[in-house]
Amino acid sequence: MKNVLILGGGIAGVEAAIYYRKEGFSVELISDRSYLFIYPIAIWIPVGINTFENVAYPLEKLARKHRFTLTIDRVTAINGKDKTITLESGEVRKADHLVIATGSGKMKHVGLEHTLSICGAPEQTLLLKEKIDALIAQGSGKIAFGFGGNPNDPSTVRGGPGFELFFNLHHKLEQLGIRDRYEMTFFAPMPEPGARMGGKALSLLKMLFQKNKFDSRYGKKIAHFEEKGVVFEDGSRLESDLTMFIPAGDGHSFIKESDLPLNKAGFIQINEFCEIKGIEGWYAIGDASALEGPDWKAKQGHLAEVMARNAAHNSAIAFGLKDEDPKSYLEHLNILCVMDMGNGAGFIYRNNSRAIVIPMPIIGHWLKIAWGWYYKMSKMNYFPRIPGM
Ligand SMILES: Cc1cc2nc3c(=O)[nH]c(=O)nc-3n(C[C@H](O)[C@H](O)[C@H](O)COP(=O)(O)OP(=O)(O)OC[C@H]3O[C@@H](n4cnc5c(N)ncnc54)[C@H](O)[C@@H]3O)c2cc1C
Repeated sequence: MKNVLILGGGIAGVEAAIYYRKEGFSVELISDRSYLFIYPIAIWIPVGINTFENVAYPLEKLARKHRFTLTIDRVTAINGKDKTITLESGEVRKADHLVIATGSGKMKHVGLEHTLSICGAPEQTLLLKEKIDALIAQGSGKIAFGFGGNPNDPSTVRGGPGFELFFNLHHKLEQLGIRDRYEMTFFAPMPEPGARMGGKALSLLKMLFQKNKFDSRYGKKIAHFEEKGVVFEDGSRLESDLTMFIPAGDGHSFIKESDLPLNKAGFIQINEFCEIKGIEGWYAIGDASALEGPDWKAKQGHLAEVMARNAAHNSAIAFGLKDEDPKSYLEHLNILCVMDMGNGAGFIYRNNSRAIVIPMPIIGHWLKIAWGWYYKMSKMNYFPRIPGM
């Protein structure tokens, strides 16, 4: 049997493990976490709509179901020339066939320890919940949410989950009847955060900001964070009792230190078939890879899954296991998201030819919750996979 080693047990790595197994490969997945953290449904942990346990799905269950080997260890080094990887346990593995799906590192900012991120280490979602609960107990306060940029790779900027949690927190405070006691401000260095989603989505965001009495500080570069606020490069300051900040993605240090071909931000360069340039039999998928394509392109979960399935398909062709055309991820580049607001959601879609937004009061929120259930059930084969989802 052909062996493949998959690094990373996130959305991309798990999908790759499942699909490489379907293609007849023997699979070992190495992850530094024992669970798959389903980020799209993590936005509800801080506001108490979902629990950590419900979002962190045990990899062991998936490994048993799909009969792949699971190793919990951290990759510390990768050598493309020798085709080896080094693990924290000290083991060095030779891998003729490898899929890198270790996601993204984060940009560094001075004073980041004074912030919490909804897109960071999974445990931060629980710390955010603690902070929000304490702020509610306090009875009033100042809340600042924001995200940062990465000039070397804008596709790795992530703001959507920040808006989602912001709206969910607003909704929670309204339900408690105390929203008017909190100042809520969104900040970002770009003049129009969210512009990537298209003009209609941006107009919807602006309308909701006015309606819900949110403040904004846009177009100001962040200098540093302090215990009680954000300081901008122009010297102005935003006071805050709770700062939720999503740094843009950046290449992991162990990837940056490797001999792999990388873009300026430290993401792995691949061709349209997800093959790492110049290293036969090695693939990179999901947030770890450098995407090609239009300016508005974004790293998303559904694209990570397409890349995983394509890598498995293209590997099977390379190994002579089937005689079909290889599949490119480029034709699947789009922005597709159901932006949750706690009491509804906005369906947002953008591709090269159109950008649409469909407001979905109430039902949108429940659809996204249902997607979380569907995601887990379909990965365990308890529910058939719906094409495109
Ligand atoms: C809060 C949030 C909400 C989101 N909402 C949506 C949404 O609604 N729709 C959408 O399409 N996308 C959404 N996204 C984006 C989507 O979640 C990501 O694009 C997706 O998770 C990328 O998958 P990945 O497997 O490449 O990376 P990850 O999911 O980050 O997984 C990387 C994996 O690699 C492991 N790993 C990292 N370093 C090492 C190492 N050194 N050794 C071993 N293992 C390692 C990690 O533990 C992790 O398991 C959201 C993201 C966030 C953060």
